[in-house]
Order: sequence, then structure tokens, then C-alpha cells
Amino acid sequence: VADYEDGEWINPRIVPFEPFTIHPASMVLHYGQSIFEGMKASKNLDGQPMFFRPEMHAKRLNASASRMCMPDLPEELFLEGLHALVGLDQGWIPPQEGSALYIRPFMFATDEFIGVRPSSKYRFIIFTGPVGPYYSRPVRLVAEQTYVRAVAGGTGEAKTSGNYAASLLPAKIAQEKGYDQVMWMDSREFKYVQEVGTMNIFFVINGKVVTPATDGAILKGITRDTVLTLLKEKGFEVIEKPVHIDEILAAHDRGELEEIFGTGTAAVVSHVAELAYGDRVITLPPIEDRKVSPMIKDWIDGMRSGRVEDTHGWVQE
Ligand code: PMP
Repeated sequence: VADYEDGEWINPRIVPFEPFTIHPASMVLHYGQSIFEGMKASKNLDGQPMFFRPEMHAKRLNASASRMCMPDLPEELFLEGLHALVGLDQGWIPPQEGSALYIRPFMFATDEFIGVRPSSKYRFIIFTGPVGPYYSRPVRLVAEQTYVRAVAGGTGEAKTSGNYAASLLPAKIAQEKGYDQVMWMDSREFKYVQEVGTMNIFFVINGKVVTPATDGAILKGITRDTVLTLLKEKGFEVIEKPVHIDEILAAHDRGELEEIFGTGTAAVVSHVAELAYGDRVITLPPIEDRKVSPMIKDWIDGMRSGRVEDTHGWVQE
């Protein structure tokens, strides 16, 4: 925990995990100045807890802070807090590859003020909780055509609570219709693909890997960046561009749509079994026939455990 007052971060401390009180007029409760990150620490083959690209999370937290008119958190404070806390909590990390300690850093506005303006006081907290290997079964997606998660110029690129609040109703409706998650589309025509739930989305078309370009409305996933970097290095043709739904449906009709998968810290890779767009429902090939996404999951899980060489210095003590 650390507090921001009079223009500086003060009193960084570790306290027992327990409820705390805030004032009913705390600005975060009313105006949504609240940002967060989702990370995992896992054990390498020597039993040492390791982080994955922690400085990227620190930078993204600060990018979110900047959009939400919140103060920068010094990267050293973020990293020190992470190390101190995970040092204490590492007993919770199961040794199996894929298991991890989930880490939730977050920052929120604590000023007691009822007018709309940026808060002058903030609190930053990190807490952790163990998670087992994330065996996600292939998911069924529906392209959302009524609601939007984010628009260019909005807060979509920030990891801020309001984006998730906006996603709850459409996700609930989709689940009631038997889908696992919605695929977010652009707000003008509902034709261009953005992302999925808490994941970025990738398509494999005739051996080429295609993902929506970040357009100001998509969260810049750290797993997305990792996957793009690894695939390029392994010689895959990787294309970041606006992705029109008709292009995906046409590729499917030609028999060239080989895979759809989501990427994110929690699942690493989530395979898509089925995609619905209006009346069209397309079914993707079985996992055994997929070449790209199972390999990516193996690389990333393997890098984290030390089984696969990490040539980028992404996995850090
Ligand atoms: N999009 C959204 C909306 C998310 O919440 C997440 C999870 N942070 C992602 C994409 C994937 O990002 P990352 O790979 O950094 O976990």
C-alpha cells in the first residue's frame, strides 16, 4: 500500500490482507478514477518466483493513470512493492508449470469531494492470490452488435474499471444465449473487430497471423505484444491492421480460416471453437489441427518455468 498526497507518494508499507474503510465521498466511488493491472508470478524450475515483463505492467499502469488524470507511480516503487510482497507470498505459488500467484496492482481516487474534478489524493495497493493452471476449454464467441466496449478517443486503451463496467451487460446477455464471451466491434458499423472479454484476438488465415491494430480503443495487451514478437522471430507473417468481419467470414468460406484465439495474462491463450455474427455461425477446426496457438502457449508457459529459453529477458526475478 502507498498513498499519494500533496504531490508525492508516501508511506509505502505492507499490511495484513483485510478490509479497510474509505469515506462515502471518496471520489473513486462516484467518478470512476480507478485503474489496475493483472499479472502473474510463477516458479521456475529452481523454485524461484519469477515475473513476466513487470516493467511493461508498470508502464501500462502509468499510461492508464495519465488517461484517467491520475498521478504517475514511479516504476521503482511498483517493482519494489511487487518484489517485497511476492517475496512474502511466494509460498502460495504451486510448483507446477502453468500455476501462478495472481497479482492485482491497482490505484484509486481517495479525495473526499463531491464535485467533478480530478482527485488530489490516491491510494495504490497490490494484493495477490494463488491460481491453478488455467485449462480453458475452447470458447464460443458472439460478435456484439448492440453495445460497444470502447470508442477511439474514449478510455478503451486504459485499464480502467469503467471499461469493465460497460462490458458487464452485453457479456451477461451473451452468456444467457449460450456464448462464453462477446467479441467487441467498432462503434460505427459493428464491422471491425476489436478484442474479446479480457483478451486480445488473433486470426490465422492461410498460415498468416492477423490481429486488429491498436486504434485507441483496444487494450494493448502484454501477451499480445509477446505473441507478435515471438511469431515474427519464428518467421511467421504477422499482420496488424483493421480487421473487417467480412474478411474473416470470407476466409472461413474459402476454407482458409485455420484458427481464432485470444491472448491474455490469465489464460495465456484461449482457443475459439465457434464465432457468431448475426445469423452466421462459423465453427473452427479442432485444437489438434491448430499449429500456431498451442505452440504459443507452450513457449510462454515454458519460458516462465525456464524449460524454454527466454532470449528477451522477459522472465525476471
Ligand atoms: N483486453 C482486455 C480488455 C483485458 O482486460 C486484458 C487483460 N489485461 C487483455 C486485453 C490482455 O492483456 P494482457 O495480455 O496484458 O493480459
